Amino acid sequence: MSLLAGRVAVVTGGAQGIGFAIAETFSRHGAAVVIGDLDPGDARERLGGAAAAVRCDVTSAEDVSALLDAATTEFGGVDVMVNNAGITRDATMRTMTEEQFDQVVAVHLKGTWNGTRLAAAIMRERGRGSIVNLSSLSGKVGLAGQTNYSAAKAGIVGLTKAAAKEVARFGVRVNAIQPGLIRTPMTTAMPERVWDQKMAEIPLGRAGEPEEVAEVALFLASDMSSYMTGTALEVTGGRFM
Ligand code: NAD
Repeated sequence: MSLLAGRVAVVTGGAQGIGFAIAETFSRHGAAVVIGDLDPGDARERLGGAAAAVRCDVTSAEDVSALLDAATTEFGGVDVMVNNAGITRDATMRTMTEEQFDQVVAVHLKGTWNGTRLAAAIMRERGRGSIVNLSSLSGKVGLAGQTNYSAAKAGIVGLTKAAAKEVARFGVRVNAIQPGLIRTPMTTAMPERVWDQKMAEIPLGRAGEPEEVAEVALFLASDMSSYMTGTALEVTGGRFM
């Protein structure tokens, strides 16, 4: 089954982890995929098929515009936008610097705002489109050591719902995903003790794989979810349900 045949998808932070799994899944379902990443490396070659990879810092509106322009020039438009780029700068409030706070909020919140508003501007002209924003379980429950990240990820849910209301009448849908603990370069770097603590909180008894988030992104990107907008879907193995 090709759920995205003939569609063009842009994935920020798509060079590794969840973003790359989304790019691969979309590509397998027939989409032309354009990855935008701070460090695209050989992502285009790894993806194969109708694909491009562009250097892009999502905190820069200029970069995000250029990324969307590349999708339009190479493949004729933008049908799906996935705002996935992310970083962590964990520290308790007692030790977190303003820089750590600002960096995380800029990449997640401003980056997602840039991607959402600039993709929506293209999609509303075309009368269709689906935007998928990566929030986090951290934005739902708040996690100690992540006041910056939890605030930004909760903000992404608010942004998603507000944007969904603005663009629904143009045929554009905006939804979010809230993953729990997913095995990617972002999380496998954490100390074993912290990893084990988190595992104990997961009813399904294991971390998720990037492909398991990508399948949900595919659902939200495709017409399978045609009557859904402004939602945030949890992909957590039941953690903090
Ligand atoms: P990752 O660190 O493995 O990959 C993130 C990618 O984003 C990298 O390729 C990086 O180069 C890119 N990136 C970072 N800053 C960027 C910027 N300013 N502009 C463009 N690209 C940038 O992370 P991941 O685990 O795959 O996470 C992907 C998304 O899912 C993030 O938004 C993350 O917060 C969210 N998330 C992850 C988990 C998890 O457990 N891994 C859980 C919940 C939410």
